Formats: sequence, C-alpha cells, structure tokens
Amino acid sequence: MGDFSSFAREAREALGKKLCAAFLTNGYKSAVYAPFAADAAKLALDMIPEGASVGIPGTVTVRQLGLVEKLEAKKCAVYQHWDPNLAAGDRAGRLKEENSADWFVTSSNAITYDGKMVNIDGTGNRVAAMSWGTGSVLYVVSVNKAMPDLAGALARARDISTPANALRIGSQTPCTKIGHCVDCKSPDRMCRAVLILERPTFGRDTHVIIVGEDLGY
Ligand code: SF4
Repeated sequence: MGDFSSFAREAREALGKKLCAAFLTNGYKSAVYAPFAADAAKLALDMIPEGASVGIPGTVTVRQLGLVEKLEAKKCAVYQHWDPNLAAGDRAGRLKEENSADWFVTSSNAITYDGKMVNIDGTGNRVAAMSWGTGSVLYVVSVNKAMPDLAGALARARDISTPANALRIGSQTPCTKIGHCVDCKSPDRMCRAVLILERPTFGRDTHVIIVGEDLGY
C-alpha cells in the first residue's frame, strides 16, 4: 500500500503554486506556497520586521498560526479587537489602530484560481483595510479556500465561511441552524459588505502566503 495522503499533498502543492503564480501575475508583491501551517508562520515572521505595528482583524487562520503571540514575542505592537481584555468603549479606537498599522495580517474567505480575493464583512473594518489599509497587507490563505471562479468563491464565503463565523460569535442567523446561506433578512445578518479584490489596490505592498493545510473557515 502506498502513502495515499502524499498524493493529496502533491495535488494541493500543485494548486497552491498555480495560485501563487496567479497572484504574482495580478500584481501582488510576493506570493509563496507553504506546505504546512508552521512554514506559513515562519514566512510571515520573516517578512514582518521586529518592532513593527501589526493589525490583526477577525481571522481564525492567523490565530491558528499563533501569529499574535509570535509577533508579540518579536516586540511587534499587535492591535486586535478580539482582545478579550478590550473594554467596549475602546473598540472603535482599536479598530482604527488595526487598520492603520504598519502591517495588516489577515486571511480571505475565498480566493479564485485566477487570483481574486473574495471577502464578506459585517462591520466593514476588514474589507476597508484590505482595500485601503495604510500599511502593507499580508494574506495567509489555506488552499482549501480556492474556488475555480468568482461565483464559486462568493458561494464559499456565504455557505462555508459565514455560517461558521456566525456560530463562533453566537449569532442567530438562519445559516447557523441549517449550515448554508439563505440570503437572510435577519437583524443579525453578517453579510453586509462584499469586497472582490480583482487586483491589490494601489498605494500599498500586498503579499500572499498560500498554505497546504486546512486553516480557518
Ligand atoms: S446572508 Fe444571512 S443566512 Fe446568508 S450567510 Fe449571511 S448571515 Fe448567513
């Protein structure tokens, strides 16, 4: 019997490298494939200089890599509104700090085979920084978020990312009960702003790390 999992890894690597080529073609400053989460964390830490300020929005992927703790250990000033000690009155200021840091480190709800990013936001802070953050932007995205086209990526963001995120925050949207999107009219609706990045926006360096392991939602 062969090592069946090695074929899956090889296929993921082939797709990951194809995605990196697409992002480079689209103008991303760098796009690198990392087979495992630990490789991705190391690449991110090598990229972000000691002492830099780093904004980390609502992203499960970046936290699964342990980047908050690792960046703090590197004397970076990490701004995150998911900080459990953050007072409610400080949330707005923290969101501004997040979005104006030297680096904004995030993931993406979905990506396409031709190098587009698709993201859905409720508050709008994350998609704002993705398109108009003042510092450099780094995306760390698992290859399992890649879809063949824009329609598939939008469907993934709605049907896979959002129900899990809604459950995470205790939202009462219908997708938390049935596990897919019904384009709800709930007051809790998470899907309020949709950003499709066809190319990285002008005025900032934007980087991508594609990871061979499943991460995030
Ligand atoms: S529109 Fe509503 S049901 Fe659909 S994913 Fe968003 S929050 Fe869930």
